[in-house]
Amino acid sequence: MVPREVIDTIRERVDIVDVVGQVVTLKRKGSSYVGLCPFHQEKTPSFNVVPHKGIFHCFGCGAGGDVFQFLMQTQGLSFHEALKELGNRVGVAVEDRELTPAERQQHKVRHDLYEVCELAGGWFEAVLRTRPEGEPARAYLAGRGIEEATWERYRLGYAPPSWNGLVDWLAKRGVPPEMAIAAGLARPRRGGGAYDLFRGRVIVPIQDARGRIVAFGGRHLEAMPDRRGQDGEAPPKYVNSPETAIYSKSKVLYALSHARPAIQRAGQVIVVEGYFDVLSLHQAGFRQTVATCGTALTREHLQSLRPLTTSVIALFDGDAAGVRAALRSLDLFVGAGMEARRLDLGDSKDPDEFIQTHGAEAFAARLRDSETLFDLAIRHHKERLGSTPEGRRQALMELVPIVRKLDAAPREVLIERLATSLDIRDDVVREVVGLGRRAGPPAAARVPPPARFRGSRELNHLLWLLVNHRDEVAPIVAQVDPGVVTDRLDVATVVARLLAGDPLTSIIEDVEDPDLVAILRRCAVTDPRVRDGRGEELYTVEQAAPAARQMLARLELRRVEAQISRIQQELEGCSPGSDGSRYREALVKKSHLARKRQELLKVANRRLVTRA
Ligand SMILES: [Zn+2]
Repeated sequence: MVPREVIDTIRERVDIVDVVGQVVTLKRKGSSYVGLCPFHQEKTPSFNVVPHKGIFHCFGCGAGGDVFQFLMQTQGLSFHEALKELGNRVGVAVEDRELTPAERQQHKVRHDLYEVCELAGGWFEAVLRTRPEGEPARAYLAGRGIEEATWERYRLGYAPPSWNGLVDWLAKRGVPPEMAIAAGLARPRRGGGAYDLFRGRVIVPIQDARGRIVAFGGRHLEAMPDRRGQDGEAPPKYVNSPETAIYSKSKVLYALSHARPAIQRAGQVIVVEGYFDVLSLHQAGFRQTVATCGTALTREHLQSLRPLTTSVIALFDGDAAGVRAALRSLDLFVGAGMEARRLDLGDSKDPDEFIQTHGAEAFAARLRDSETLFDLAIRHHKERLGSTPEGRRQALMELVPIVRKLDAAPREVLIERLATSLDIRDDVVREVVGLGRRAGPPAAARVPPPARFRGSRELNHLLWLLVNHRDEVAPIVAQVDPGVVTDRLDVATVVARLLAGDPLTSIIEDVEDPDLVAILRRCAVTDPRVRDGRGEELYTVEQAAPAARQMLARLELRRVEAQISRIQQELEGCSPGSDGSRYREALVKKSHLARKRQELLKVANRRLVTRA
């Protein structure tokens, strides 16, 4: 077990805005930050980060937690891994804990694969930069206009054209052939052992979102015929690592760890297909560029991009196949709540060639002029179906399913666009869109409902006051019998620790009831508001103490009213004649409680907000 103090120290030193900001583009809003939730699909931000409380919380889906939980939930780390990772960043050492045998095995496999990929990456780099056999690759990169600074930044390398250069080098460092195979760097040789997968290729290491090398892409050098090529079969231009325990091509986007800050700054991401397109665009100043690794764009790719930006510019060929591919992916983008545009490069075969021929300014102009996939779809259907009334009506029917998937605001925009482009009255378009509503729930309906809150309104309000205005309300709450506030032990413990000034994150860590956790997190992220039954007003510090008194009075009032009705029952059960002293005692108690009730009522019903 890691000691509590170590956990608290790490949490104090780490800036949660920094950590969350690497995955979600955050905007400042008062003392907190808001952005698009990485845990559910949304178009208006309901994801909040409150740095001074060390908490994130989403009002849309109820996700939330502290900085450790954020890493655990976004990167699939265990608590211990998150602790180690953040501990590293802020210079706090975390001891390895005892893992279960299965965990240890899984952990070790992944850890070993990262290490082998890192080793191999280092070797490829060294060959490119320093070895004589790297010369053809250096010449090749120079010929393509890839600068040395770029080799270094993106850790380019070279695999010499031998069958076992890497396998042998790794073996000398204690990496057995099976491990090189598991890391996707080698293939099994008949009769045992392994041979290099990458031979005579410029190597582009593929890093995951955290910047760790997980795979490689290899570009064949024409000048260096592959040995398999000798029997007449041309070697493939590109060879990529197979999927491994640490690499899934449907999840990883090439250069995302390098592109992230630029994507956030530019408010857009450019998605291309080739590693060299990325290198060339980054070199030309378009660092918001990533590439898919030999696969079409997937839902998971968009999932990792969406918290950074909802604006995607993707490359699709101008031919019929390219347009079909663009239209197919339109559905994917709409489903992910993203707006996509098609980057049209005219006659250039790829962005690299475009930049070489036309330069960066022309490329920037192409970005600006890029057409949304929806406009492309309208144009395509119009051309295909003709401009007769039937043709336009048919085009409308084909486009309506996409419009239906949108939220109200973007849907209105597209309805008008459809109406104008197809020359159909917008109330007709609206009617057609509306008719299909029964076909399926809108995207928003799939979002899970927010976590349910237990506890009375008064108790929740009091907790909110303790979390947000402790200095003002603690002296008042401390004077009251804890039984007035709650009869639940876990809630009483939370109140006691809030009174003691413990940090909220460390209090939450010990709470087991998920509903109570949700209430406390919500306390940390909701705007300070007064609710007095006649509307809502922003809180001022002066209102905190009276509000606390009022909530305590209301809680106590409930208790007193319960006591009164118990005594009432007692009075009805005994007769003044036969049970005189007990009857009189109950009467006295009742009148005492009734007076108490009157006093409490005055405080409980007082208006807190006097402003108009
Ligand atoms: Zn959410």
